[in-house]
Amino acid sequence: MARVGFIGLGLMGAPMAANVARGGHSLTVYNRTPAKAQALGELGARVVASPRAVAQASEVVITMLTDAEGVRAVLDGPEGLLAGGHPGHVLIDMSTISPEQAIDVAGHLAAHGWELLEAPVFGSTGPAQEGTLGIMVGGERRLFDRHRALLACMGKHLFYMGPQGAGATTKLAFNLLVGAQVASLAECMTLAAKGGIELQTMGEIVLASGVVSNLLQRKVGNITAQDYTPAFPLKHMNKDLGLMIETGHALGVALPVTAAAHQLFSAAQACGYGDQDAIAIYCLLAELSGLGKSTPREEGGT
Ligand code: NAP
Repeated sequence: MARVGFIGLGLMGAPMAANVARGGHSLTVYNRTPAKAQALGELGARVVASPRAVAQASEVVITMLTDAEGVRAVLDGPEGLLAGGHPGHVLIDMSTISPEQAIDVAGHLAAHGWELLEAPVFGSTGPAQEGTLGIMVGGERRLFDRHRALLACMGKHLFYMGPQGAGATTKLAFNLLVGAQVASLAECMTLAAKGGIELQTMGEIVLASGVVSNLLQRKVGNITAQDYTPAFPLKHMNKDLGLMIETGHALGVALPVTAAAHQLFSAAQACGYGDQDAIAIYCLLAELSGLGKSTPREEGGT
């Protein structure tokens, strides 16, 4: 069993770290907001006060952070990971970032004798709790083979995708489906509501139809219950859509549906829905369509 460090105990990171601890690994954790680390401490993890202390206690460190800025923030500085590690350390970054950002992080790590395995995930908080995430890995194959058992504590579907950047490219290509489906469901429900159709019945029709996915099933339930508790925060969906557009530009790929979804999610974030679940996009569309405000939101955006 390895000495594992885990940084980033948010909606996804906390249950993933708990599964690493349950897998029998010796776990050291850090979170910027210390209160979120408490539950891991109760599970037997050692809670420390800096990324540097995580590196000092671990052979391999996992990060599950919002974005590339978050990853860089925990790497650098006197209390950063790189200040506490030594050559031969491996970082497994499971955050959703772009291929360019992953390659950039890998280069930065290499300059300090560290190696990067990028391992973004599909599946939301439910699979994170159950340890059934999908994990799409980019980087050296030997690192994937070495850390396969550790990844298997968190995920049921492990895919080795190829060299650095391949994990991030796969994740963004996949997540494009989530952005489009969530936006499309919100439009479907808004059109129905404005046309006087009862939302509960419309939801039942969507669920009874052949188009329904596990994702849509959960999101229909959110709309009919008017419950926008975040499983996948809208601001993260918006961030991912921006990364898809950037990656499309870099590869010369037109992504017109994704671009429209990005505009919509950007507006929703600017209107204060960022911390709610991604399907709160419905609330913005309902509001724009004259159906009134259906959920409280922060004025001014997040
Ligand atoms: P989250 O609940 O917002 O957690 C984000 C984590 O990153 C928190 O621990 C936060 O610390 C930390 N963080 C952010 N910026 C930081 C910084 N500058 N310095 C130090 N720590 C920082 O997000 P999440 O839903 O767990 O998502 C994490 C990643 O997984 C994102 O890249 C997301 O796109 C991806 N993802 C999410 C889902 C999902 O369904 N939620 C599914 C697949 C992939 P604080 O606690 O101090 O804020």
